[in-house]
Amino acid sequence: MNKNIKQNYLNKINEFKKHNKLYYENSSPIISDKEFDKLKKEILDLEKKYIFLKSNFSPLKSVGFKPSKNFLKFKHRQKMLSLSNAFNEEDLINFEKKILNFLNEKVNLDYSVEPKIDGISASLTYKNGNLVIGVSRGDGKEGEIITDNLKTIKDIPHKVKNSNFPKDIEIRGEVFINKNDFEKIKDNFANPRNAASGSLRQKNPEETRKIPLNFIAYTFGYFEDNKYKLQSDFLKDLKLWGFKTSEHNKIEKSISGLVSLHKKFEKERFQLEYDVDGLVYKINNLKLQKRLGFTSNAPRWAIAHKFSADYSYSEILNIEIQVGRTGALTPVAKVKAVNIGGVVVSNVTLHNEDEILRKDIRIGDTAKIERAGDVIPHVIEVDLKKRKNSSKKFIFPNNCPSCGSKTEKEFNKITKKYDAVRRCSSEGFECEKIAIEKLKHFISKEALNIDGLGKRVIEKFWDLKLINSPEDIFKLDYDKISNLDGWGKQSVSNLKYSIEKAREVTLDRFIFSIGVRHIGIENAKLIADNLKTIEGFIDIINKKNINELLNIDGIGETQIQSIKKFIKNKENINIINKLSKILSIKKLEINKKGRLKGKTFMFTGKLAGISRAEAKSLVEKNSGSIVSTVNQKLNYLVLGEKPTNKKIELAKKLSVKIISQQEWTKLLN
Ligand code: AMP
Repeated sequence: MNKNIKQNYLNKINEFKKHNKLYYENSSPIISDKEFDKLKKEILDLEKKYIFLKSNFSPLKSVGFKPSKNFLKFKHRQKMLSLSNAFNEEDLINFEKKILNFLNEKVNLDYSVEPKIDGISASLTYKNGNLVIGVSRGDGKEGEIITDNLKTIKDIPHKVKNSNFPKDIEIRGEVFINKNDFEKIKDNFANPRNAASGSLRQKNPEETRKIPLNFIAYTFGYFEDNKYKLQSDFLKDLKLWGFKTSEHNKIEKSISGLVSLHKKFEKERFQLEYDVDGLVYKINNLKLQKRLGFTSNAPRWAIAHKFSADYSYSEILNIEIQVGRTGALTPVAKVKAVNIGGVVVSNVTLHNEDEILRKDIRIGDTAKIERAGDVIPHVIEVDLKKRKNSSKKFIFPNNCPSCGSKTEKEFNKITKKYDAVRRCSSEGFECEKIAIEKLKHFISKEALNIDGLGKRVIEKFWDLKLINSPEDIFKLDYDKISNLDGWGKQSVSNLKYSIEKAREVTLDRFIFSIGVRHIGIENAKLIADNLKTIEGFIDIINKKNINELLNIDGIGETQIQSIKKFIKNKENINIINKLSKILSIKKLEINKKGRLKGKTFMFTGKLAGISRAEAKSLVEKNSGSIVSTVNQKLNYLVLGEKPTNKKIELAKKLSVKIISQQEWTKLLN
């Protein structure tokens, strides 16, 4: 039991290390800020619950990432730490309680409230009024010397002449980029913070100068002979000395005051020129700050009260129609790029015509946009107060914007309702957009699984007229491809290899790959299992005997109608015939006596060296089966990297065997 807990903890620590590096050192995170914060919290919760869990890489012990080798290092005279996070009122009450317990006396606490600008911190040391060294935070103990880069920022004074400016002081603040300036360079960076971090840590300061960075000062680090009594007084003087400070800094006296300020600011933050991801509350009294001191990675006297990372507001610049593989017309709003929890969003789905009407979404409107978890960004509502006279209603097209065919809404005989989705009436390759999507489907993992021929490549080859139809994939002009930008000998030979490998395919995958609406991989398997051979499949199509498939348990009227519609289109039949000659389509082999006979499996997390689709297929080849929910019928839950906790917990409750990928491989052979 303890072994499992420890392993789970260490997995999380390793994940954390990986993302920490991507976030701080490479300035190119691959998960959102929210997921990053969640991971940190999960580790801290585990540490709290099981005191035997310890690691030097715990978020409680680490700050940022060690300085990059590209720069000279500098040991901070006073550590540059992180801030602990609060997400709700309860967290704030606990924060205050801890402070009062620590001080062990009844004092009235005033808080200096400052916006938490979502950039990266920098430290500026001034001696006798001259900026002598500028350093990044690094791992909190040592930072990178980036003086020349920092000097390119217009908000950073090189010299301060005021007579009351301290002789030896380190000023700290945030380097960031405005949203409008980010818009121009958004293709090169994951989000504005990474743009700031990436630009600031360029080897050549002239590269830094090209990006309009800003600096807002908010505190001191090393400060010889500090006579200040209040943080708020220090902030005032920072301004007098010529540093920019936030015009939103305030003093607040109670937790309830902090909470209402947070609520108000959370709404208003979208109008700011730069990203703010929370409010920082600092005990205003510097004497108390000194007494409270620091834990290993954060001050005890400050906390960051985060904003929701799930939504933001942005302007709808245009509405475009995307045509999907099955002809579905999906309206997509092109919005002014907006950072939602570390992920920059510029395309937002509007789902369908009814949704646009119901929410009265117009071009030019300001919309509240949600991006939570894996859900695609969508509009929650538009802000009617911000509606401009020039806002434009969107007229949903009656004809497909790609091929001009009529569009239609299907009538569902069972529900007696029209479908919400409007579709292009062409079911085939005549519609360019549908054709491209069909090709993407054809090469996808569960279909022909052609590595090296991803979605982007399909689009490119389509534009170059290298591929018009699935069979073209097997007659590609490799000489032409090797002369294309970005294609070397190796990549061409890899592509050739994976295409040749894909010539051999099982019947179920083939049926799935031709992309009939409502025939997913499971239905394709049922049909393949029933018809056995490609000849059987072609026979039923030629004789138009589709109703025969109704005998298959699991295939219903919807699937039958869909196949009928599909084969009405001659081009579709043509393609099936051509492919059947080019490919070697194998019977679906179900090994009735396989090693996993009667056993059910479920995978969670990323598997090493094998796709989910292949793993499933291996189980099935060995007579096992896959289930899609954790229930009593499940025999094994197989854990990959970063598994879903909920599934593990439920499996434990139901006494389902939890095994690693290695154990699963052992079961196979
Ligand atoms: P964390 O990102 O959790 O390490 O939080 C600490 C960081 O918040 C600091 O290193 C700063 O980059 C940033 N920050 C932004 N605004 C402020 C502020 N007013 N006071 C302190 N830290 C701030």
